[in-house]
Amino acid sequence: MEKLVVLTGAGISAESGLKTFRDSDGLWEGYNIEDVATPEAWQRNPALVQEFYNERRKSVLEAKPNTAHFALARLEEKYEVTIITQNIDDLHERAGSTNVIHLHGIITRSQSSINPELTYPINGWQIGMDEVCELGSPLRAHVVWFGEAVPMIETAARICSRAELFILVGTSLAVYPAAGLINYVGPRVPKYIVDPKIPEASVRGPVMKIQEKATIGVPELVDRLLNK
Ligand code: NAD
Repeated sequence: MEKLVVLTGAGISAESGLKTFRDSDGLWEGYNIEDVATPEAWQRNPALVQEFYNERRKSVLEAKPNTAHFALARLEEKYEVTIITQNIDDLHERAGSTNVIHLHGIITRSQSSINPELTYPINGWQIGMDEVCELGSPLRAHVVWFGEAVPMIETAARICSRAELFILVGTSLAVYPAAGLINYVGPRVPKYIVDPKIPEASVRGPVMKIQEKATIGVPELVDRLLNK
């Protein structure tokens, strides 16, 4: 089977009701990124950061996968698919995709605040300020904050370098190192971009730009690739 790699961003979950941030006003659900999604924010005001991610988790648990998530899952009928997502939601998994790499973590798990390798399932939607990991340190959301290392980036780069087909959906390609992954994809590999606002980053080789929302553009593209 051909190796197909899909890199997704916040845009694929927008029509499931989960907001992107760069589209609107540079804020994420009304917050400055520096106030909620950095290690410094956690140092300054852990309760605010915890509360912010508890709210995001609640929204994620209430959201449902959309036709774009479901369409990508269908690709496994014909391709060896890896989805590399920048999203912290679990909508790809709930749509049925079986091979998903979360570059920025997943909000449905908690993480030790001193050892990012210690992660745990969460009962319900809230992490309490009194909850601790097995080392006795407070638990936080299992997400990668701005300024933190991205442990999965090397695995993701290797997978991109072996791709035989590549699809990019709903990402502004503004957050590094994720945005650099596209440079690992071979120059002759066919690439498809689905986004109502095609990102300006330069992409090497043959690119088909599908300027549509994910729920329109992705199912159409998947039908085409399954009937190829
Ligand atoms: P971004 O907010 O920077 O860019 C969103 C992209 O999605 C834009 O290119 C926009 O044109 C496109 N888009 C908007 N509506 C769309 C639709 N209906 N269909 C297809 N595309 C659409 O998002 P990013 O590049 O993923 O970077 C944001 C960072 O914020 C990520 O690293 C992620 O961890 C985090 N984030 C995650 C979620 C989530 O998990 N659902 C939501 C918001 C932010």
